[in-house]
This record gives sequence, C-alpha cells and structure tokens, in this order.
Amino acid sequence: MTEESSLSVSEAFDLLLAGNQRFVNGAQQHPNQDAARRAETAPGQRPFAVLFGCSDSRLAAEIIFDRGLGDLFVVRTAGHVVGPEVLGSIEYGVSVLECPLVVVLGHDSCGAVAATRAALTDGVAATGYVRDVIERVTPSVLAARAAGLTLDEDVVDEHIRHTTGLLLDRSRLLADRIATGQTAVVGMSYRLAIGSAHLVTAHGLPAEPTSPLTA
Ligand SMILES: [Zn+2]
Repeated sequence: MTEESSLSVSEAFDLLLAGNQRFVNGAQQHPNQDAARRAETAPGQRPFAVLFGCSDSRLAAEIIFDRGLGDLFVVRTAGHVVGPEVLGSIEYGVSVLECPLVVVLGHDSCGAVAATRAALTDGVAATGYVRDVIERVTPSVLAARAAGLTLDEDVVDEHIRHTTGLLLDRSRLLADRIATGQTAVVGMSYRLAIGSAHLVTAHGLPAEPTSPLTA
C-alpha cells in the first residue's frame, strides 16, 4: 500500500497543492518516478486524484504537480471539453479507483478558448472535428461575454467554472459522492509563465477556500 492509498479529500488537495508549490519554486522532489515505484504500482493503481485538464503541451500533469507513477489518473482534451468518454473516464477514476479528488485544470492563453473567441467574433468556422471542440467551448465564452468579462484570464476562469459545473450536472455519481463527502470536484487555473495553479471553484472541499487560493 502507498501513502496516498486512503487520503481524505483535504489531504489529496493539500498533496496536489504542495507538489505544485515545489514546481513553482524549482524545488521538485520527483516523487514516485523510480524503479521501486514502478514495481510497487505494477499490480494495481491507487491514484489520489483525477486530473482532467486541457491537452496543452505545457500542462503536463505529473510535471507541474511534481508527482510520479500511480499518483494521478489523467484525462485531457483540448480546452478540457467534456464528452461521454471524458465522463466515463472520470467516473472510473472516482468509483473504481476511489480517487477522493477531481481537478478540472484550465490555463491562461488557452488555444481552444482563443479560437472560440475568434470564431464568435470573426465568424471564422473551424474545420473537421476541431469545430466540435469550438462548439463545446462556446457556451463558456458566451457566458463570459454576457457577464462582461473580456480579459483572457477571466474568460478562462469562466470556462473552468462552466466545465466543473457540467461535470456535476451530467454525472450523478460525482454529485452523489460530493453529497456524501467522499469526493471533491475543484476547478483550477494554471499560469503558464509562473507554473502556479490556483483555485477557481470548489465543490465538496471540507474547508471552503479562503483568500490566497481564490485570487
Ligand atoms: Zn488549453
């Protein structure tokens, strides 16, 4: 068994934040990346968090949270858009692997958000299945527009809130787990230049976040 095998919601969130802080400070420990961990986890995984993030190449989950093998159950799509496969993967991580934490991770300068804003402004339609990504980001951008948000970071935060809400609306399993305190679903925004992830929205965290995290 690993130290992460039966973490509470709060412990899992703190573990994730601590890893990100090490990454920001250039003080990474690169935990669980050696042959011993590989052997330890080969028989079965018990990750402590589901990380659902944008596919952006600069958002590599284990790197920016300073974790290793068996720590994070990672699901990523361009613009963290949600479809049935995403919901099924997240529910698998929560129900079968018993992850106490689900993180929706967006970031500034997100290409999917920028492309959606451009499509709505200029009427330039994307081609192929990229259009599907744009269409799924569109409700967030429209909501941000309706709220008068124009800054990139604010629009991104709105998209993170929208995505997090969508998970709870669509997944009965997630909503039930939050209600019983077994799982938290949080939305976080990552800053590409400085490497920090800050809390945007939280459902099911026992101690609701205070000022430093809700910037
Ligand atoms: Zn992105």
